[in-house]
Amino acid sequence: MARLVCLNCGHEERVPMHCGREMVYVLKGNFRKYEYLRCQVCGYEVTVPLHCSIPMLYTDEDYLPISALSKSEIEEMKKIYGG
Ligand SMILES: [Zn+2]
Ligand SMILES: [Zn+2]
Repeated sequence: MARLVCLNCGHEERVPMHCGREMVYVLKGNFRKYEYLRCQVCGYEVTVPLHCSIPMLYTDEDYLPISALSKSEIEEMKKIYGG
């Protein structure tokens, strides 16, 4: 089951639903990446929700990815996303 995880504090929440189905993760852009959640039925898109001022990580694994961000990377993202 896919979920959203905060890389800073470990908070987890369910992936939002739209049109009765779980939304899927999409990545757009070349230079700067923009992360979205898209409805598989109607195409509705929302930006990935923020937690601790950084975008939450979309994962469908049972375990946390080992590519978790370092403290300095998290601080950098907080600046980018304007926490
Ligand atoms: Zn929809
Ligand atoms: Zn958090």
